[in-house]
Amino acid sequence: MATAAHRLSLCWVTDTTGTEHAVTGTDMADTIADRLGEYRGICGIRFHPASLAACPTSRCQRCTNVLRIHRTETLGRHCAA
Ligand SMILES: [Zn+2]
Repeated sequence: MATAAHRLSLCWVTDTTGTEHAVTGTDMADTIADRLGEYRGICGIRFHPASLAACPTSRCQRCTNVLRIHRTETLGRHCAA
């Protein structure tokens, strides 16, 4: 089991093309604070969100890969400890 320090707080936000990107809780808070409405996915893309009623059509493969690497590294560190 990972410790709280290894957890990555994030949510998936749909861009205007219908692709979901993973956004960290910190970046979500920054976006709300600066009121510009531009999110930053963990893949590095900056985007404006689609309507909350919009259904995603796909999930960003780069965000998925970043999460996979993060989980592998976190699990590897935990198992090595
Ligand atoms: Zn992405």
